[in-house]
Amino acid sequence: MKAMVLHAPRQPLRLEERPDPVAGVGEIVVRVEACAVCRTDLHVIDGDLMEPKLPLIPGHEIVGIVESCGDGVDLKPGRRVGIPWLGHTCGCCGYCASGRENLCDNPGFTGYTRDGGFASHVVADADFAFPLDGFDDPAAAAPLMCAGLIGWRSLKMAGEGRRIGIYGFGAAAHIIAQVCVHQGREVYAFTRAGDEPAQALARSLGAVWTGGSQDSPPVLLDAAIIFAPVGELVPLALRAVAKGGRVVCGGIHMSDIPQFPYAILWGERQILSVANLTRADAVEFLDLAPRAGVTTTTTVYPLERANEALADLRAGRFQGAAVLVP
Ligand SMILES: [Zn+2]
Ligand SMILES: [Zn+2]
Repeated sequence: MKAMVLHAPRQPLRLEERPDPVAGVGEIVVRVEACAVCRTDLHVIDGDLMEPKLPLIPGHEIVGIVESCGDGVDLKPGRRVGIPWLGHTCGCCGYCASGRENLCDNPGFTGYTRDGGFASHVVADADFAFPLDGFDDPAAAAPLMCAGLIGWRSLKMAGEGRRIGIYGFGAAAHIIAQVCVHQGREVYAFTRAGDEPAQALARSLGAVWTGGSQDSPPVLLDAAIIFAPVGELVPLALRAVAKGGRVVCGGIHMSDIPQFPYAILWGERQILSVANLTRADAVEFLDLAPRAGVTTTTTVYPLERANEALADLRAGRFQGAAVLVP
């Protein structure tokens, strides 16, 4: 198999040939068809997330075909599956026992503590792979596996309000905006000041208002979701939400949040973070996405050009999501 491998933080990934993987008990070997590139991959590569497995094959938005199965696996070879960030949980800690496996005390994360999908093949725990019957375009489906799933969990945390602000209009936002519209909500999209292409994408997906992150929306919002890893957005979003409103931080890493006056939190406004996903989130969202007519905007790169895709993500040089194809 071939893979793009991280050997040390802040180093470019290296293309390597590796022995073909073998499925252990409860595992599957998947031939990767597509793997989307997530901002979390940048945080892993940049060393913002500590102690990754090294050397590491990043990538946790994987779509592929089951090639072989270890003992005790129900999936059959030939089935298309998706493999997300949550790669394993202990199944017995207090969080796992209470339906909150996203907070598991002893988890495994694809493309962080386990090898991921910037490769021709990947080994996954079969219990954490999701059949993607009916998803016929692997590159289009790949961004659903994190941008979609974490976005969905973020939207659930935002509550049932009608007016939803989204800060940072990248891969997750462009998917969740479509879900909001499907649910009859209004989307207010905040981008970097003057990022006209992102604002145009937001409007094309049904946003009722677009503006820069410093701008005030024309009405107070019921909730705001922050997908950009920028702590300065938290007080801005607090000022944009109405009493009782929630500000949901959807990223795994964020720069420091500046000091702000208590008055903008007062009124039972809440700040929440979203950590990882549960398998129940995945089952819900993978059922909902086709019914909501979710489409993805992608830029496809050959696997060997993973470093270029990461650099383009860092620089904001494409709309929607980058996807690697072996
Ligand atoms: Zn991700
Ligand atoms: Zn656990």
